[in-house]
Amino acid sequence: MEVSRARDYVYSDSELDQSESKVIEELKAGAMEPLSDPDAWLDEELSQNILLTTADWLINWGRRSSLWPVICFPACCAFEFISVMGPRFDMSRFGMEILRASPRQADVLITAGTLTWKMAPNVRRIYNQMAEPKWVIAMGACGISGGIFRSSYNVVPGYNRIIPVDVYVPGCPPRPEALLHGIQMLQEKIAKRTNIIKE
Ligand code: SF4
Repeated sequence: MEVSRARDYVYSDSELDQSESKVIEELKAGAMEPLSDPDAWLDEELSQNILLTTADWLINWGRRSSLWPVICFPACCAFEFISVMGPRFDMSRFGMEILRASPRQADVLITAGTLTWKMAPNVRRIYNQMAEPKWVIAMGACGISGGIFRSSYNVVPGYNRIIPVDVYVPGCPPRPEALLHGIQMLQEKIAKRTNIIKE
Protein backbone atom coordinates (compact mmCIF):
# COMPACT_ATOMS: atom_id res chain seq x y z
CA MET A 1 0.00 0.00 0.00
CA GLU A 2 1.40 3.39 -0.99
CA VAL A 3 2.02 5.86 1.85
CA SER A 4 1.50 9.51 1.00
CA ARG A 5 3.72 12.13 2.70
CA ALA A 6 2.79 15.63 3.66
CA ARG A 7 4.14 18.06 1.05
CA ASP A 8 3.60 21.36 2.81
CA TYR A 9 7.39 22.21 2.65
CA VAL A 10 7.66 21.62 -1.06
CA TYR A 11 6.98 24.58 -3.36
CA SER A 12 6.27 24.77 -6.99
CA ASP A 13 8.69 26.73 -9.13
CA SER A 14 6.39 29.72 -9.24
CA GLU A 15 5.85 29.64 -5.46
CA LEU A 16 9.59 29.53 -4.96
CA ASP A 17 10.06 32.52 -7.27
CA GLN A 18 7.40 34.50 -5.43
CA SER A 19 8.91 33.65 -2.06
CA GLU A 20 12.38 34.74 -3.16
CA SER A 21 11.00 37.89 -4.76
CA LYS A 22 9.28 38.83 -1.54
CA VAL A 23 12.54 38.51 0.41
CA ILE A 24 14.44 40.51 -2.20
CA GLU A 25 11.83 43.27 -2.34
CA GLU A 26 11.90 43.59 1.46
CA LEU A 27 15.70 43.85 1.37
CA LYS A 28 15.59 46.47 -1.40
CA ALA A 29 12.99 48.51 0.46
CA GLY A 30 15.33 48.78 3.41
CA ALA A 31 18.43 49.49 1.31
CA MET A 32 17.56 52.85 -0.25
CA GLU A 33 20.33 54.61 1.71
CA PRO A 34 23.86 53.35 2.53
CA LEU A 35 24.25 52.03 6.06
CA SER A 36 26.09 54.40 8.37
CA ASP A 37 29.55 53.49 9.67
CA PRO A 38 29.02 51.93 13.12
CA ASP A 39 32.39 53.36 14.27
CA ALA A 40 31.69 56.93 13.12
CA TRP A 41 31.28 58.10 16.73
CA LEU A 42 34.93 57.19 17.29
CA ASP A 43 36.28 60.01 15.07
CA GLU A 44 34.57 62.71 17.10
CA GLU A 45 35.55 61.03 20.35
CA LEU A 46 39.21 60.86 19.34
CA SER A 47 39.34 64.43 18.06
CA GLN A 48 38.04 65.70 21.38
CA ASN A 49 40.01 63.54 23.77
CA ILE A 50 43.25 62.29 22.25
CA LEU A 51 46.24 64.31 21.06
CA LEU A 52 48.67 62.37 18.89
CA THR A 53 52.25 63.63 18.64
CA THR A 54 55.83 62.48 19.04
CA ALA A 55 58.04 62.76 22.09
CA ASP A 56 60.54 64.75 19.99
CA TRP A 57 57.90 67.29 18.94
CA LEU A 58 56.75 67.72 22.54
CA ILE A 59 60.29 68.14 23.92
CA ASN A 60 61.25 70.57 21.14
CA TRP A 61 58.05 72.56 21.60
CA GLY A 62 58.83 72.98 25.29
CA ARG A 63 62.43 73.98 24.64
CA ARG A 64 61.83 76.44 21.83
CA SER A 65 58.95 78.04 23.74
CA SER A 66 60.92 78.74 26.90
CA LEU A 67 64.40 79.86 25.89
CA TRP A 68 66.24 81.63 28.69
CA PRO A 69 69.09 83.89 27.51
CA VAL A 70 72.12 84.43 29.70
CA ILE A 71 73.27 88.00 30.32
CA CYS A 72 76.24 88.69 28.04
CA PHE A 73 76.41 92.28 26.77
CA PRO A 74 80.01 93.04 25.80
CA ALA A 75 79.33 96.13 23.63
CA CYS A 76 76.92 98.41 21.77
CA CYS A 77 74.66 95.76 20.13
CA ALA A 78 73.36 95.29 23.65
CA PHE A 79 71.17 98.38 23.29
CA GLU A 80 69.23 96.78 20.44
CA PHE A 81 68.93 93.62 22.49
CA ILE A 82 67.57 95.68 25.39
CA SER A 83 64.98 97.28 23.13
CA VAL A 84 63.89 93.80 22.01
CA MET A 85 63.16 93.07 25.65
CA GLY A 86 61.04 96.23 26.00
CA PRO A 87 57.28 96.56 25.46
CA ARG A 88 57.51 97.62 21.82
CA PHE A 89 59.20 94.48 20.50
CA ASP A 90 58.34 92.32 23.50
CA MET A 91 60.67 89.34 23.37
CA SER A 92 58.48 87.57 25.92
CA ARG A 93 56.06 86.76 23.09
CA PHE A 94 58.59 84.09 22.12
CA GLY A 95 58.97 82.62 25.59
CA MET A 96 62.22 84.49 26.33
CA GLU A 97 61.10 86.79 29.07
CA ILE A 98 63.65 85.80 31.67
CA LEU A 99 67.27 86.88 31.36
CA ARG A 100 69.40 84.73 33.60
CA ALA A 101 72.39 86.03 35.50
CA SER A 102 73.50 82.45 36.11
CA PRO A 103 74.59 80.55 32.99
CA ARG A 104 73.50 77.33 34.69
CA GLN A 105 69.89 78.48 34.35
CA ALA A 106 70.22 79.61 30.72
CA ASP A 107 70.15 77.77 27.41
CA VAL A 108 70.80 80.51 24.84
CA LEU A 109 73.63 83.01 24.55
CA ILE A 110 73.05 86.11 22.39
CA THR A 111 76.38 87.73 21.64
CA ALA A 112 75.39 91.39 21.83
CA GLY A 113 78.67 93.10 21.08
CA THR A 114 82.34 93.10 20.15
CA LEU A 115 84.41 90.46 21.87
CA THR A 116 87.97 91.22 22.89
CA TRP A 117 90.55 88.50 23.49
CA LYS A 118 90.73 89.65 27.09
CA MET A 119 87.01 88.89 27.51
CA ALA A 120 87.08 85.70 25.43
CA PRO A 121 88.00 83.24 28.23
CA ASN A 122 85.15 84.57 30.37
CA VAL A 123 82.60 84.26 27.56
CA ARG A 124 83.76 80.71 26.85
CA ARG A 125 83.49 79.91 30.56
CA ILE A 126 79.91 81.26 30.56
CA TYR A 127 79.11 79.06 27.56
CA ASN A 128 80.66 75.99 29.19
CA GLN A 129 78.62 76.56 32.34
CA MET A 130 75.31 76.73 30.48
CA ALA A 131 72.98 73.77 30.66
CA GLU A 132 72.70 71.36 27.73
CA PRO A 133 71.19 71.61 25.21
CA LYS A 134 72.31 75.18 24.52
CA TRP A 135 72.41 77.52 21.56
CA VAL A 136 74.24 80.67 20.46
CA ILE A 137 73.00 83.57 18.34
CA ALA A 138 75.84 85.70 16.93
CA MET A 139 74.33 89.19 16.93
CA GLY A 140 75.87 91.94 14.81
CA ALA A 141 78.86 92.25 12.54
CA CYS A 142 81.25 92.13 15.50
CA GLY A 143 79.67 88.91 16.76
CA ILE A 144 79.86 87.33 13.31
CA SER A 145 83.31 88.41 12.16
CA GLY A 146 84.73 91.13 14.38
CA GLY A 147 82.99 93.79 12.27
CA ILE A 148 84.82 97.08 11.80
CA PHE A 149 87.31 96.00 14.50
CA ARG A 150 88.18 92.74 12.76
CA SER A 151 91.78 93.72 11.96
CA SER A 152 92.41 94.97 15.48
CA TYR A 153 94.97 92.93 17.45
CA ASN A 154 92.72 92.64 20.49
CA VAL A 155 89.36 91.71 18.87
CA VAL A 156 88.13 88.15 18.34
CA PRO A 157 87.14 87.87 14.62
CA GLY A 158 83.82 86.21 15.37
CA TYR A 159 82.41 84.31 18.36
CA ASN A 160 82.56 81.13 16.34
CA ARG A 161 86.33 81.14 16.95
CA ILE A 162 85.70 80.19 20.59
CA ILE A 163 82.16 78.76 20.80
CA PRO A 164 79.81 77.11 18.25
CA VAL A 165 77.24 79.49 16.74
CA ASP A 166 73.77 78.37 15.63
CA VAL A 167 72.30 81.53 14.06
CA TYR A 168 73.94 84.67 12.61
CA VAL A 169 72.12 88.02 12.69
CA PRO A 170 73.97 90.59 10.52
CA GLY A 171 73.91 94.37 10.98
CA CYS A 172 75.79 97.08 12.82
CA PRO A 173 73.82 96.99 14.92
CA PRO A 174 71.03 94.67 13.74
CA ARG A 175 67.58 96.18 14.15
CA PRO A 176 65.35 94.62 16.83
CA GLU A 177 63.22 93.05 14.09
CA ALA A 178 66.35 91.32 12.76
CA LEU A 179 67.15 89.87 16.16
CA LEU A 180 63.55 88.67 16.52
CA HIS A 181 63.87 87.02 13.12
CA GLY A 182 67.08 85.33 14.30
CA ILE A 183 65.30 84.09 17.41
CA GLN A 184 62.55 82.61 15.26
CA MET A 185 65.17 80.93 13.06
CA LEU A 186 66.67 79.39 16.19
CA GLN A 187 63.24 78.16 17.25
CA GLU A 188 62.78 76.54 13.83
CA LYS A 189 66.16 74.86 14.23
CA ILE A 190 65.24 73.56 17.69
CA ALA A 191 61.95 72.22 16.29
CA LYS A 192 63.93 69.86 14.03
CA ARG A 193 66.08 68.36 16.80
CA THR A 194 66.10 64.64 17.41
CA ASN A 195 66.07 63.95 21.14
CA ILE A 196 65.09 60.30 21.24
CA ILE A 197 67.93 58.19 19.86
CA LYS A 198 66.59 55.05 18.16
CA GLU A 199 68.85 52.02 18.44
S1 SF4 B 1 78.14 95.31 15.30
FE1 SF4 B 1 78.15 97.54 15.43
S2 SF4 B 1 76.69 98.01 17.06
FE2 SF4 B 1 77.22 95.84 17.25
S3 SF4 B 1 78.89 95.75 18.72
FE3 SF4 B 1 79.80 95.89 16.68
S4 SF4 B 1 80.15 98.10 16.35
FE4 SF4 B 1 78.69 97.89 18.05
